[in-house]
Amino acid sequence: SPVIVCTDKLFKVLFIGDLGVGKSSIIMRYVNKCFDETYKASIGVDFALKTLEWDAQTIVRLQLWDIAGQERFKKMSRVYYKEAMGAVVVFDITNSSTLGAASEWKQDLDSKVCLDSGRPIPAVLLANKCDLTGRDEDLVSSLNSFCKDNRFLGWFETSAKDNVNIDEAGAFLVKQMMLCD
Ligand code: GDP
Repeated sequence: SPVIVCTDKLFKVLFIGDLGVGKSSIIMRYVNKCFDETYKASIGVDFALKTLEWDAQTIVRLQLWDIAGQERFKKMSRVYYKEAMGAVVVFDITNSSTLGAASEWKQDLDSKVCLDSGRPIPAVLLANKCDLTGRDEDLVSSLNSFCKDNRFLGWFETSAKDNVNIDEAGAFLVKQMMLCD
């Protein structure tokens, strides 16, 4: 009879970005498949688990770390970043100052954690709240070069509210983390 080899992979993934951009809402959508405007994350680091049947042989478990409530510092301690394999940096597409902050967050991340090879850990940029009007076209057209300059592997327009691109962004990041593993 055939031998079935099953691999189980665990990845620590960090969610960073300014207060109010939608980090907790994206995690809620991704893990619990819901959006709750009244949901308020607790203060301090919080984490959730997401399990994916990646393919017939592979189970991927994601440990999603939310910095809930620590955003005012614009940086996190090394303890939080320790052994992270991937990062999701979120900004609010209707608030350009949060994109500037995303660059600062990415620099803080890269200064505190990297792969064994010395390269940055895989990171994806999420332009969240794309369901809202008032989306800045100039800002959107600058995102390719923003990603290149800040060493993001890619970006997605997302909506935690309307469930746009959340699963796609997750799958993209997992694929990148598998390549680095
Ligand atoms: P966090 O501080 O980054 O964790 O942000 P939250 O997840 O607490 O979201 C901040 C506010 O933005 C809340 O009122 C959410 O309901 C709202 N929000 C989050 N994601 C979306 C989205 O995709 N679209 C809209 N319209 N509102 C969102």
